[in-house]
Amino acid sequence: MAQSVKGMRDLFGPVMGDFQHIEDTARRVFAQHGYGEIRTPILEYTEVFKRSVGDSSDIVNKEMYEFKDRGDRSVVMRPENTAAVVRAMIEHKLLQTSDPQLLYYIGPMFRYERMQAGRYRQFWQIGAEVFGSATPECEAENLVMLFDFLQGLGLKQLKLTLNSVGTPESRPAFYAAFRAFFDAREAQFCGDCHRRVAENPMRVLDCKNEGCQTALQGHPLITDFLDDASRAHHERLKVLLTNLGLPFEENPRLVRGLDYYTRTAFEVLSSDLGAQSALLGGGRYDGLVKHLGGPDTPAFGWAIGLDRLAMILAAVRGEQSVPRPALLIPMGEKAAAEALRLARGWWAQGAAVQVETRGANLKKALQTANRQGFTRALILGDGELEQGVVAAKDLAAGTQESWAFAEVPARLKD
Ligand code: AMP
Repeated sequence: MAQSVKGMRDLFGPVMGDFQHIEDTARRVFAQHGYGEIRTPILEYTEVFKRSVGDSSDIVNKEMYEFKDRGDRSVVMRPENTAAVVRAMIEHKLLQTSDPQLLYYIGPMFRYERMQAGRYRQFWQIGAEVFGSATPECEAENLVMLFDFLQGLGLKQLKLTLNSVGTPESRPAFYAAFRAFFDAREAQFCGDCHRRVAENPMRVLDCKNEGCQTALQGHPLITDFLDDASRAHHERLKVLLTNLGLPFEENPRLVRGLDYYTRTAFEVLSSDLGAQSALLGGGRYDGLVKHLGGPDTPAFGWAIGLDRLAMILAAVRGEQSVPRPALLIPMGEKAAAEALRLARGWWAQGAAVQVETRGANLKKALQTANRQGFTRALILGDGELEQGVVAAKDLAAGTQESWAFAEVPARLKD
């Protein structure tokens, strides 16, 4: 009975500290770039995701928390947030003009996934989306923001990889060349890839099967089939990134599987945890807003998983304790009342103080303080009250000083 739902976890303690640090850093950096936060509901009508993420994807087929509400409407606990943000932009008519909209979101997503390490059924994502700008400058600006965010968290081993998937108009020529290549060695590809090559050849490039990756040696490159405008866009983005000192590598197998993705696709890899692995992906999706019934609007964005990011940060930083305020320990009834009045004055001056309110004796209160990782205790007994001081105990060093009431906030800041 007393257990959380399978695949869903409680966040508290040091992990919560990491989540907060990541979220604070995100909000600070994104605000500097003019991005505003958007919070959409956790429940959306099922259509929002069926039409955007695609009927044939694993997310829609197998992983959605989808149910009928009490009014018999089919709803879904959002498995991702781009579609919901686009739905909101259309609903609130924010894309009627060509004004740019710069947005970010932070929140939980839900996927009924097979259980495995580091994957949850409720997990968290931070994402950023820009609507209304079709330029490589928009992408470079957004990528700089992303790197400032990740580097601001202390991640160092980051690598940006890039590709261009062209446009729905330029892709048929690539598909034709790719299918000819595939047909010549079809026996080497897995069953899934045989299905993918008919539906969407780009997804063969994405196959995780090693045999398929080997069979792909020498495959036609999507970048060799770009229309002139997409090629110029791709080249310009590379120039901008080089100017900004943001190193990147081209990855011709990097794709996004759906038709509304256009031009730039990217991934950021991290080797901060040893083996290199993808930290996040994103790209341009100029076709999605129209596909969902809105005005034709260019868009670019990405989403990163917070759970994994927090795990990397914890590993990079090593064992850490949750920072604690000072613990104010009053002794006796008179001191207990006075402690609250004093603390109120210190809080007003920005000091961080937790009050021991159990009426515990000093020995017990200090034992608790040590167990919970407090490093500073402020002891207030009748003697201290009379003199207008607290006995400030450094719990690590075991030393003690007298601090006048008025100097407590300044002393705690030191
Ligand atoms: P996706 O939307 O699948 O492209 O994933 C975007 C980000 O969300 C990635 O950084 C993933 O690490 C993260 N993510 C996706 N699914 C899960 C999950 N079940 N548990 C934890 N993180 C996830």
